[in-house]
Amino acid sequence: MAALDLLSLNTATVRDAWTLEQCIEGCQRHGVTAIAPWRDRLQEMGVERAARAIRGAGLDVSGLCRGGMFPAQEAQGRRAAVDDNLRAIDEAASIGAACLVMVCGGLPAGSRDLPQARDMVRDGLASILDHARAAGVRIALEPLHPMTCADRSVLSTLGQALDLCDELGPGLGVAIDVYHVWWDPQVSAQIARAGDRIFAFHTCDWRVPTRDLVFDRAMPGDGVIDIAALRHQVQAAGYAGRLEMEILSTDWWARDPNEVLAICKARHEAFC
Ligand code: ZN
Repeated sequence: MAALDLLSLNTATVRDAWTLEQCIEGCQRHGVTAIAPWRDRLQEMGVERAARAIRGAGLDVSGLCRGGMFPAQEAQGRRAAVDDNLRAIDEAASIGAACLVMVCGGLPAGSRDLPQARDMVRDGLASILDHARAAGVRIALEPLHPMTCADRSVLSTLGQALDLCDELGPGLGVAIDVYHVWWDPQVSAQIARAGDRIFAFHTCDWRVPTRDLVFDRAMPGDGVIDIAALRHQVQAAGYAGRLEMEILSTDWWARDPNEVLAICKARHEAFC
């Protein structure tokens, strides 16, 4: 497969400039053959309309971002999160997404009980898995960098995510985002352990110094992550899916999105 055929555009890369409809057109214009939408933009366009447009453009969907956010202090809040995740599964099925990506959620407001928050994540996942399996939607757990443990994800490492996969069974795998796992001394061993449970691979780079933990990602090649090494490790583990470029960056959001896409393509081909 030619390098460019493996690229997927995660629409967060051009979040502020383009609607989902514009992203679909942009992919066609630039010869990018896969896309990974975010739910807010999907809902804004309308799920059925978006599904038709994506099919019409001949795009694969490498993932839908995102479900998760399970922990909540009250049972009512946890139920609401489960209901929202069931809707996300239906949306992922409607657009034929290769997986639904999970950002599992941080500590409930006011809580210091990290083990309890992790239990809430496990219980939330357990209660949506039957629906996901019935819908044919794979659930991809995305461990997030531990600096985001309090507010975004109590799931911090690939090893922790795979332990959950072992516990909860089929239909559950991982989304490996280089930004979140590159620092982990266990990353190579855990990629090998993941094997056919790698459902997504997200690329970007780690800027030095980092000015914001979420919105300061760098374009591949502008940071310190050995993306090519990680890409080859997931390939060796059996992953043959898309390499999804996901650059949440206030710097890149301010640029012309057509220029951003052209640079994404060039940088993707450089490490691919
Ligand atoms: Zn990601």
